[in-house]
Amino acid sequence: MTIRSHLNVFSRLFSIGAAMLLLSLSSLAYAQKLDQPQKQTQQQRDVYSFAQDGLYFSNQAKGTRLNKVTRLAQDHYQMTISSAFVPTNTSSFFAFQLWSLTSKKVKLSLKYTEHKHRYVPKFSVDRRQWQPISGLIMSEGDTVATFDVDVSPTKLWLAAQEIESAQDTYDWLDALMAGKPFLKKQAVGKSVQGQDLWMVAAEQEKVKPSLVLIARQHPPEIPGGTFAFKAFYEEVVGNSELAQLFRTAFNIYTFPLLNPDGADGGFWRHNANGFDLNRDWQAFSQPETRAVRDFVTQKVAKEGKQLVFGVDFHTSFNGPYLLILNEQNEANANTAIIPQVIKNAQQNAPIMAQYRRREQNLPYCYNWFFNEFGAEAVTYEEGDETDRRVIYARAKLYAQSLMKAMLSEQAR
Ligand SMILES: [Zn+2]
Repeated sequence: MTIRSHLNVFSRLFSIGAAMLLLSLSSLAYAQKLDQPQKQTQQQRDVYSFAQDGLYFSNQAKGTRLNKVTRLAQDHYQMTISSAFVPTNTSSFFAFQLWSLTSKKVKLSLKYTEHKHRYVPKFSVDRRQWQPISGLIMSEGDTVATFDVDVSPTKLWLAAQEIESAQDTYDWLDALMAGKPFLKKQAVGKSVQGQDLWMVAAEQEKVKPSLVLIARQHPPEIPGGTFAFKAFYEEVVGNSELAQLFRTAFNIYTFPLLNPDGADGGFWRHNANGFDLNRDWQAFSQPETRAVRDFVTQKVAKEGKQLVFGVDFHTSFNGPYLLILNEQNEANANTAIIPQVIKNAQQNAPIMAQYRRREQNLPYCYNWFFNEFGAEAVTYEEGDETDRRVIYARAKLYAQSLMKAMLSEQAR
């Protein structure tokens, strides 16, 4: 080999290397755009006191988010709201408490540092009953939302969606489990900040076909991720004849809160590493997604369980809808449950959701169920401001429709 050909080989290798470097840089940029935080904004947990107006704000409770309070004029305040991590999407979540020395009306302006306003502000005195604010005025290209609110010495909660901390979800779960000895709770991992990741099983050793439920990867998505999930779960572990029959034929493995750090931190979208968990179902770079992967994979590999169906609960500004398999995957799935669910739900058409198909190479949870196990799966999306009674009724309808469909498909 001559020196020239050595040089040629070298320069060709160099070109290939440069091309590979460029490729990996561009895929890195893509991954960063999808997943990785470029900036963090932690909130200071504090009470913000304004003696001149006798007005107080607090973001000390879990699940709240408030970054700064500025007095603009007498009884007019601006709350600055920042996302914990950017880049993010428009999940403009805020939550705080406020109270005053005397009863009066004050003007509040929510000012977002990333993205625009999204959620109708809601207030509550007991964190159970919530009411939407009326008379919202948008300004500065929808990055500022202004409204009046009556304040008093009684602390008022004000939030983008109903506040649900990790403890709230676990308290609900423990109360539900108290009357149901067949439910077994197991810690299957730790979140980034060291919280237990709980899985609840309704399981029999001889039963192999299984349903997996996953809730609240995205913290502010309370309508679907908390309300719809809870109603759905109460139905499938309930006392109806259908539910009892269902549990003789299927195991139910449930992850009631996959992002406890995000729930407690008031995060817009991410886990405590700044990753969007529902974009991590190919890389499995985060402990929360790995906990589900490892648990489900072990159940299948070591105990011979068969994953038949998966549901992942979310909320969208243009929900409600169900993300279902695309046509090709629907044809290739092990079962044909989704078409029957749709048919069953038609019995109550007014509260049926729409159905949408997506590309299925994306790193979403429901795609992992299909791509890894050939299992049908849906992303269950509620709407931001959907009437909570409709959310509850719809979740019950879909739980019943799914149980019927899975039973009839198994009998086929
Ligand atoms: Zn979501």
